[in-house]
Amino acid sequence: MKTRMKVAWPTAIWLVGIHVLALLAFVPHFFSWSGVAVAAALYFASGILGVNVCFHRTLTHRGLVLAKPLEYALAFCGSLTVQGGPISWVATHRVHHAKSDRPGDPHGVDKGLFWAHMGWMLFVDPDFPKDEKIFARYTPDLQAQPYYLFLERYFMPLQLVLAVALYALGGWSWVIWGIFVRLLVTYHITWSVNSAAHAWGYRTYATKDQSTNNWWVALLTAGEGWHNNHHAFPTSARHGLRRREFDLTWVIIRSLKLLGLAKEIVVPTQSQRERHLAA
Ligand SMILES: [Zn+2]
Ligand SMILES: [Zn+2]
Repeated sequence: MKTRMKVAWPTAIWLVGIHVLALLAFVPHFFSWSGVAVAAALYFASGILGVNVCFHRTLTHRGLVLAKPLEYALAFCGSLTVQGGPISWVATHRVHHAKSDRPGDPHGVDKGLFWAHMGWMLFVDPDFPKDEKIFARYTPDLQAQPYYLFLERYFMPLQLVLAVALYALGGWSWVIWGIFVRLLVTYHITWSVNSAAHAWGYRTYATKDQSTNNWWVALLTAGEGWHNNHHAFPTSARHGLRRREFDLTWVIIRSLKLLGLAKEIVVPTQSQRERHLAA
């Protein structure tokens, strides 16, 4: 018998609220090119540097080691995407890799595309209770660092501080574009990795999940859309593996290495890649 899904009210209200508030961007009075520029700059800092470089490739998979002050600065940026703090983000993503597209995957496409995209946050999932104990079990490395406990606890007030700062510097147009529009766009871009890049695209490698390499998700996410490559080699700091698979996040990581700010960078060897090829 199918039981009714329970709505996760706080998250649902927040996400619906962001969608509604982002509509203010259509009011001409709130438009400014400087607001758009602020949103783009914040997307680059929080989404690409914060989430891709730090939360995903460094903290979750340990595909590289960043200079500690830079790691902490970028984790701060990642927390500004309001996708949970670093601990819940990393824990959820580690579970996704452990149980990809099987029962227990927080956002497996086995439960449908909408579920994988955003439904998994709007409803209470009995297979993946989003509680601190589960998050802690998957992140002993982060639990040991008080700074990550701080970000986990205060990412929401930090967003409020950012909103107040944007208002003080640029008025309502900076708040609407820099907070609401930027969050909305970042959300759907990040979520498309979990939905579209587990549904549409090609599969270079034989993985046990349904991950795909999807060029438009890769374009939007600065490289995260080469997701079949990523599921085949989760610790690789480089996701775009073929010549045409442009991966901006990888370019950034290589630049950080040249500057002496990143080391111990993991990439699969040629023979590892060949062994894993899909039939
Ligand atoms: Zn995935
Ligand atoms: Zn991953």
